[in-house]
Amino acid sequence: MSERRFDTNCVQAGYTPGTGDPQVLPIVQNTTYRYYNAADVAALFDLDSDMFMYSRIGHPDEDALEKKLTALEGGAAAVAASSGMAAIFLTISTLCKAGDHILASPSIYGGTFNLFNMTLKRFGIDVTFIDQNSSLEEIVAAARPETRLLFGETIANPALHVLDFEKFSAAAKEIGVPLVIDNTLASPFLCRPIEHGADIVIHATTKWADGQATSMGGVIIDSGKFDWKKDNKYPEITEPDESYHGLNFYEKFGPAAFAMKVRVCALRDFGSCIAPMNSWLTFQGLQHLHVRMRRHSDNALALAKFLENHPKIDWVYYPGLEGNENYELAQKYLPKGAGGVISFAVKGGRAAGEKLLENLKLASVVVHVGDIHTCVLHPASTTHRQLSEEDQLAAGIDPGLIRASVGLEDIEDIKEDFDQALNAID
Ligand SMILES: *Cc1c(COP(=O)(O)O)cnc(C)c1O
Repeated sequence: MSERRFDTNCVQAGYTPGTGDPQVLPIVQNTTYRYYNAADVAALFDLDSDMFMYSRIGHPDEDALEKKLTALEGGAAAVAASSGMAAIFLTISTLCKAGDHILASPSIYGGTFNLFNMTLKRFGIDVTFIDQNSSLEEIVAAARPETRLLFGETIANPALHVLDFEKFSAAAKEIGVPLVIDNTLASPFLCRPIEHGADIVIHATTKWADGQATSMGGVIIDSGKFDWKKDNKYPEITEPDESYHGLNFYEKFGPAAFAMKVRVCALRDFGSCIAPMNSWLTFQGLQHLHVRMRRHSDNALALAKFLENHPKIDWVYYPGLEGNENYELAQKYLPKGAGGVISFAVKGGRAAGEKLLENLKLASVVVHVGDIHTCVLHPASTTHRQLSEEDQLAAGIDPGLIRASVGLEDIEDIKEDFDQALNAID
């Protein structure tokens, strides 16, 4: 059969019932697995068997979720994790050791920025932030011999900058490191980073993949395309692994070498595994990702246009709006829509913004994006409050900025709610 299309994979990839099997993916609420003899167990520990060993490093619902996400992103293999942050840390701890270096766009999620800017330093991993408007030469010049990855977000949360994939993937190639992309805000429906040169794709599945704010989760998708051997920078992947009797991941697992390394070493050692129930709920959510993302994007664009013309609004930022500084990049990399998040500032700055949040009735104030409900947040006083004002500005966060994650309610009701809330500010 020819390769199936994206929308079909949303519904069907990852689980194919045999005759008489449940039509819906079963929940296997289980930690451990039964074998007939010691030889079966030995094969598991030699990584010669594809049976499950222990639910910390994989279980049936996680496996189905990973297969669906591998199909949706067009990768070679995937590993799920307990949260988006866990997926990011598992990736970094697999690629970097003390003394290594990361090159990253500063337009990233606040949690990731804290990890990069503070926590990783305690582990001896240094991070340089390189402005996304830098030239290819400037990005390459910021690399060091110890650089091990280049990191960015397809649509930055909450700055909403769209990554220039052409420039970043060219830079990663020249430096000789994988391009690692957090694709949470776009989802594979709006953008498939591997098609634009990404080597590793990460999601906080907590957001649009789940889509209903029920489950924490993360995933790492390995494109299978990066040549780990080329400059001998990744001995953990290309040299014998002592903890598996000298097994060589690069030789044994080929295009899935990185994903396997993450699973049987990083997940084994750090233990940030996703629960069966959360895997199952996320799997359910992904079955209608294609329907939801289209509507999220349409509603976000309509609300952005409405607010742009509202007398109480200072400015609106949405890469899908004509005239936005990222409009061309959005047209190029997000042709089906620019995602569900918009940001804007109310006239009157921070105080007026806080008043707006109080006045909204349909939209709820939450520390989350990607839900079917319309949600709003004031990043400067919440998600990004640990950052200095200077770092906030570098991450694209104005003190008066409001972030809205536009949900799937009727757009007329959403517009009316913002209209009444704005008009009630004096
Ligand atoms: C939420 C988010 C994360 C972190 O995910 P958690 O599941 O909350 O740990 C990482 N990156 C982006 C872009 C996010 O929006």
